[in-house]
Amino acid sequence: MRYEVDFLVVGSGIAGLSFALKVAPYGHVVILTKGAADEGSTRYAQGGIAAVMYDSDSFDKHIHDTLVAGDGICNREVVEMTIREAPDRIRELVQYGVDFDLDGQRDRFDLHREGGHSEFRILHHKDNTGEEIERALLEAARRHPNIEIKERQFAIDIITQHHLGQRVTKHTPGIECYGVYALDCDTNRIDTYLARITLLATGGMGNVYSTTTTPILSTGDGVAMVHRARGVLADLEFTQFHPTSLYNPAERPAFLITEAMRGAGAVLKDRDGHEFMQKYDPRLSLAPRDIVARAIDNEMKLSGKDYLYLDARGIGKKHLIEGFPTIYAKCLSIGIDITRDMIPIRPAMHYQCGGIKVDRNGESSIRNLYAAGECSCTGLHGGNRLASNSLLEAVVYAHNAAQHALSTYQQIAFTTHRQVPDWNADGMVLNEEMVLITQTKKELQEIMWNYVGIVRSDLRLQRAFDRLNLIFRETEDLYNRSVLTEPLSELRNLIACAYLIIKMARARRQNVGLHYSLDLV
Ligand SMILES: Cc1cc2nc3c(=O)[nH]c(=O)nc-3n(C[C@H](O)[C@H](O)[C@H](O)COP(=O)(O)OP(=O)(O)OC[C@H]3O[C@@H](n4cnc5c(N)ncnc54)[C@H](O)[C@@H]3O)c2cc1C
Repeated sequence: MRYEVDFLVVGSGIAGLSFALKVAPYGHVVILTKGAADEGSTRYAQGGIAAVMYDSDSFDKHIHDTLVAGDGICNREVVEMTIREAPDRIRELVQYGVDFDLDGQRDRFDLHREGGHSEFRILHHKDNTGEEIERALLEAARRHPNIEIKERQFAIDIITQHHLGQRVTKHTPGIECYGVYALDCDTNRIDTYLARITLLATGGMGNVYSTTTTPILSTGDGVAMVHRARGVLADLEFTQFHPTSLYNPAERPAFLITEAMRGAGAVLKDRDGHEFMQKYDPRLSLAPRDIVARAIDNEMKLSGKDYLYLDARGIGKKHLIEGFPTIYAKCLSIGIDITRDMIPIRPAMHYQCGGIKVDRNGESSIRNLYAAGECSCTGLHGGNRLASNSLLEAVVYAHNAAQHALSTYQQIAFTTHRQVPDWNADGMVLNEEMVLITQTKKELQEIMWNYVGIVRSDLRLQRAFDRLNLIFRETEDLYNRSVLTEPLSELRNLIACAYLIIKMARARRQNVGLHYSLDLV
């Protein structure tokens, strides 16, 4: 099938939905989403969204905290713009129906504080803020007559001049996007979506690693598509590992124990019940994530244990049960009463700071292609994302991208688009051997966890690169012979992302932000 749409959005998390709602009054919007519409990292966000809402805080302090976390390599202009825009975007979320918690008097937002923040500035809805945001935005999008949400539609590739038979390289000037090819996961048909404007909002790539807090659909599809289309990517060596995921080995994704719990007074302890953060940072358990994650990794390596503890008992029973109901219920379901027991934790891949490089308008290096949310790289996070700045970045850049797209979309005609051929699957056979895909995925995830994890070295990166080469060749061979399926496409994308992480990690010759190598200073 062939479709022509004004605005094509790939992804239905906070970034995709926010953009869609902004452009919908001006044209037909189609949102493609590979799972159920509400499935994505957004709905799992617990802590909240950072913004300066009152005079007790200041933009300067939030800017300073973001720059410090980013380890000196954030784009300062982007940081300032994002943080100053934050209150307006928060007010819009409230207008869409997001119910942020209010304080005791119910006249101000109840604000939490998280690691790396010098003030209480995290708006939240209990400890399931993301679920509340996703609910409100999705309801608003479903009500809008111009928005069509198509579930289980898997975007495979961005369409560019390459699909018109032209040679496109990284150096080709003026690469343009005409839309995407997408696999209908129910019929296995590959459709052609032609669009004036395309926004990628495909989320993160946590599944490159064997332990991750991100949902199983976070497979870096947007980044891999832009890589194949020869667009510009940046900062992928800055992989953020969350220090505290619940240790429950059989579970994937790993359940997150929010930073807000440390903000409320929970402390990290070793297996003997002793605090250890004083050895690593004067901010103790509230030090930025990278420092805490490396400290835990080191303690685990020193002791040979595969988990440590977070002790939340000092917070008090009432506050724990009322303030962290999701975590309380989750831990109780596996026999841990957090009001009496310490919580077993270990780090997990959590967030990708790098991605599709975009300018202040959210536009990528490929014309008419925008990116927002976790798949993008705006320069806000630099070497390390400050907690709760990612939901903020997603709404700010969805807004900027929408404003810019609205200023150009009417000048984009479908003339060239109509020459785009449909996907050609002739000569392909259905691959019956799922084991080839599942096993390769597991291998890839282990390689990345063991060699390209929290602590890296030149030798580990070289080893990962060599192993990945073999996996790449085997998978491309499978791809060239087989009918395309979702698992195969995801595997290719994970391999592309792993390759890019390793390549950028090898190129970064300094320990900065989240990139830490034993061979560098
Ligand atoms: C457990 C957890 C807790 C977090 N807590 C916080 C927090 O408190 N504060 C904060 O600021 N950030 C937090 N984050 C990070 C934040 O939630 C994410 O960065 C953010 O939600 C990403 O939003 P997004 O719209 O970019 O992507 P997502 O919400 O991940 O949505 C991605 C969308 O893209 C779709 N998609 C992907 N690939 C394709 C494809 N090929 N074809 C079609 N559709 C596709 C998916 O189906 C999905 O709809 C947390 C993350 C996790 C995992």
